[in-house]
Amino acid sequence: MIELDIATAVALYLCLTVITLLLLWLFLDRETKPRQYASEKKSIWQCEVCTFTYIDNQHDIISKCPQCGSFNKRKGNAL
Ligand SMILES: [Zn+2]
Repeated sequence: MIELDIATAVALYLCLTVITLLLLWLFLDRETKPRQYASEKKSIWQCEVCTFTYIDNQHDIISKCPQCGSFNKRKGNAL
């Protein structure tokens, strides 16, 4: 068995705990946040004519405004 004095053992224990928590935090944070924002941003549209904001999950490039009936084109990833 490996011999450790108490100071080294405590230091090792603290380092391993902090590293484990940091890794857990990084992985959980990375997996949950981007998916929500990506799906929410993609379905939100703002009409260029009447500035009505609405949700359309079915169309990616062009969507019809339910308020005034005009067609809106997706502009990059701004909205
Ligand atoms: Zn409109």
